[in-house]
Amino acid sequence: MGDPSKTVEYSDTIAAIATPPGRGGIGVVRISGKLARPIAEAVLGKVPRPRYAVFATFVGRDDVIDEGLALFFPSPHSFTGEDVLELQGHGGPAILDLILQRVFSLGARAARAGEFSERAFLNGKLDLAQAEAIADLIESGTEQAAKAALRSLQGLFSEAVNSVLDDLISLRTYVESAIDFPDEEIDFLSDHSVIERIDLLQQKLDDLAAKSQQGRMLRDGITVVLAGAPNAGKSSLMNALAREDTSIVSEIPGTTRDVIREHIALKGLPVYLLDTAGLRNAADQIESEGVRRAKAAMEQADLILFIEDDSRQSPEDQTDIDLPRGVPVTRVFNKIDLSGRPAGAFDEEGGWHYAIAAKTGAGLEDLVNHIVQQANYHPEASGVFSARRRHLDALGRAQAHIAEGRNQLEQYRAGELLAEELRQAQRALSEITGEFTTEDLLGEIFSGFCIGK
Ligand code: GDP
Repeated sequence: MGDPSKTVEYSDTIAAIATPPGRGGIGVVRISGKLARPIAEAVLGKVPRPRYAVFATFVGRDDVIDEGLALFFPSPHSFTGEDVLELQGHGGPAILDLILQRVFSLGARAARAGEFSERAFLNGKLDLAQAEAIADLIESGTEQAAKAALRSLQGLFSEAVNSVLDDLISLRTYVESAIDFPDEEIDFLSDHSVIERIDLLQQKLDDLAAKSQQGRMLRDGITVVLAGAPNAGKSSLMNALAREDTSIVSEIPGTTRDVIREHIALKGLPVYLLDTAGLRNAADQIESEGVRRAKAAMEQADLILFIEDDSRQSPEDQTDIDLPRGVPVTRVFNKIDLSGRPAGAFDEEGGWHYAIAAKTGAGLEDLVNHIVQQANYHPEASGVFSARRRHLDALGRAQAHIAEGRNQLEQYRAGELLAEELRQAQRALSEITGEFTTEDLLGEIFSGFCIGK
């Protein structure tokens, strides 16, 4: 974008295997760029009719490599906006590699992670929030997260952002013209309608931020630490909560697997359960990397469940793990099948506690509701978009600038400062859809995608 070396780079033709590694019925090699046509001619002997699946043999330099379907999407009506060729061969690693090598020998180069999506963004086929939604849709671990990501991909999140932006821009224009042409304007500063418009804008932005917060929760989930004395029932509770999980959630690659013992979903909310029992064993060995990571994970936890054995006469004090400060703690009284305490939430000493029996499942539903509420997650909320921390940061900055601008106007009648805050708010919101971005940000976002995406 404006950088000549980039222009050259984006005239390259890129290729990658678009299906996951391993064996399957079919495997797809995707090619995007100017060479898609000549590559089709060389490999298939023809360029397939646009957007029609054709059966063809895929030929190498001197023999047949495979046979399968080929699809051609001429520019600009393709995912990337460039000429795109898809070769659907048999889904084995050796075959797909042969096809890919053949395509490379004809002048294409290996696509970087996320490069197809990046080109789609740079060619205006998708905005940035939509491109991110593709990655989130593929990675979503629950049905709710997938639905939210699809809504963002279809542009509903971007539309909501743009609608706030439109209001913001029109307000900014009004304020700036009032400053630039003071003679023609009745004193807009004393005009209460400006404050009213700011308030409406703030409301709309708050609503958007709340929905986005839910979306981020669906994507990132919450971390819950199970703490308590040995034999209180931490492992039993972990197993009981895992049984409440109705969806199939896969391991998240790249996370600290040695710390996270379970990754489950409660009411569609991804929940990472950390058991401090494992931590204690590891603590016998000198400060290992695992312990350090476990502690770091605990410090970022959203909730600690402190499990106590309710059947003991004088509960032994307590745990040998340092609990992180600043993380909310909920006390859970376990083994009520032995102690006889009624199941469920109860109010004591100014806090809510939970009485359960991990063994029988008594009181578990209340506890699950509590965990979900603690996350400020509302499973019934509709119209939730998938959102990332990046989006929430941008929304938060926009909210702060608008609040500050309102303050400047109300307290000091400072129209110029209001205009400046509105400008900053606009810039923050524009980062979400990518209207305003830096190359660094783009690199960071797209490198988090998989190859072939
Ligand atoms: P941890 O050391 O905190 O992980 O505790 P465990 O989950 O291993 O449980 C310690 C013992 O308490 C085991 O023998 C469990 O079967 C038992 N236990 C756990 N939860 C309950 C419960 O709700 N009722 C009863 N009766 N026993 C339980």
